[in-house]
Amino acid sequence: MTTPKRPRRFIAGAVCPKCAEMDKTVMYTNDAGEEVRECVSCGFVQTSTEQAEEDRQSQELATRVTPVDGKVLLDDEEKPLKIIGLDD
Ligand SMILES: [Zn+2]
Repeated sequence: MTTPKRPRRFIAGAVCPKCAEMDKTVMYTNDAGEEVRECVSCGFVQTSTEQAEEDRQSQELATRVTPVDGKVLLDDEEKPLKIIGLDD
């Protein structure tokens, strides 16, 4: 009971990204006012800032690999294949 101002709450159902333990992650606020997630099992610590950055990067990655909806890249002048040599 050292810092009653910063209660640590367990996040129900949260999975640690490092050790994959469930319900071992606590959340609290650090001196900078950031939300911090800490795994009590392996000691993994991640601030909300780091997490937001990670989310942004993974979103960018998803955007990059996902094809744009509704934009099928087809040539406007797509012609049917011509079979040559069957006229005779
Ligand atoms: Zn962990």
